[in-house]
Amino acid sequence: MFFERSYRRSDVGPAVAEIRSKLAVLGLLVVDVDATGSLSAALFDEATDRAVREFQQQRGITVDGIVGPQTYHSLDEARWRLGDRILSFVPARLLAGDDVAALQQRLLDMGFDCGRVDGLFGAETEQALREFQRNVGLRPDGTCGPATFKALSQLVRTVVGGRPHAMRESEAITRAGPTLSGKLIIVDPGHGGDDRGVDGHGLDEAGLVYELAARVEGRLAATGSSAFLTRGPDGSMDEVDRASFANAAGADLVISLHMDAHESADAGGCATYFYGNDRIGHHSAVGERFANLVQREICGRTDLQDLRAHPKTWDLLRRTRMPAVRIEIGYLSNPGDAGRLADPDFRDVLAEAVVAAVQRLYLPPDQDTDTGSLRIPALRA
Ligand SMILES: [Zn+2]
Repeated sequence: MFFERSYRRSDVGPAVAEIRSKLAVLGLLVVDVDATGSLSAALFDEATDRAVREFQQQRGITVDGIVGPQTYHSLDEARWRLGDRILSFVPARLLAGDDVAALQQRLLDMGFDCGRVDGLFGAETEQALREFQRNVGLRPDGTCGPATFKALSQLVRTVVGGRPHAMRESEAITRAGPTLSGKLIIVDPGHGGDDRGVDGHGLDEAGLVYELAARVEGRLAATGSSAFLTRGPDGSMDEVDRASFANAAGADLVISLHMDAHESADAGGCATYFYGNDRIGHHSAVGERFANLVQREICGRTDLQDLRAHPKTWDLLRRTRMPAVRIEIGYLSNPGDAGRLADPDFRDVLAEAVVAAVQRLYLPPDQDTDTGSLRIPALRA
């Protein structure tokens, strides 16, 4: 409807009738059904004035009892419930409504970053919706139609309350049980192909992380779990494809291996990253726990400096459905770190530390042992 002028107390007409019916739908005004179409239904009376003010108060807009364009548009947006209409990204005129805000809130609750919950279906919301669709096996068309709405309702119902994403992740880990047998773990050597990553002291990251990944893979196989590498010694893949590979494989866990470098030769140590986004206050709780375990095991078994665990939104961390970490093991620009990493025995210790962290992730707390004490034979399923 074309809405130019403002309506207030004592006004009469079809526009007032429409305003009153919108307020009634929101439960703010009782409209006598029998009176519909009569003069009283079209009158901006005292009850209408009170209802408009209450609505304005709720919405955080100016409370003046006057229905101008701002209040009218807010009334119009407030009537939409998720599932009432098909939602999609219309660049020329963004769809706006409470249904869009509900969609955004649900996406955020499940860890899909659609930016702010602003009730406007913009590009970020479309992107997050596509990711959600991809994750639940729907066609990723970025449109919220009946099938997507159904998937959203079903998932949301299971995660209401508390920190839904964290709870769901933790439950999956508990359900998975303490043994590594049967678990599918993706070991991702970073870079590869023409992309060699960082280098220093005669070492190159792509080659070294592949060699380390092969050691981790061998140890995981010895525990009865299945380990897949994302690439061969010479292959390469971008981060999005690596995440898709892990998702398609239905992996339990993703471990991405990297090394770092810095212009200062003094910089050194080991850091582990998990998915987390401070802007929306969301992070992967299991990812964080696993990242901390990796740090504890590596830094407990070696003299690499502990640079701790940190949240990041890198594609591999954000787009993987399962807990994922990226370990930056040592600085090739640091003579001490590079010297250690060049030693195959040292890389064996690193591989053992990573596998011990994996085992510890699945162990119930009462069966946990001291950091650095788990040895591979004890981990055999
Ligand atoms: Zn790297």
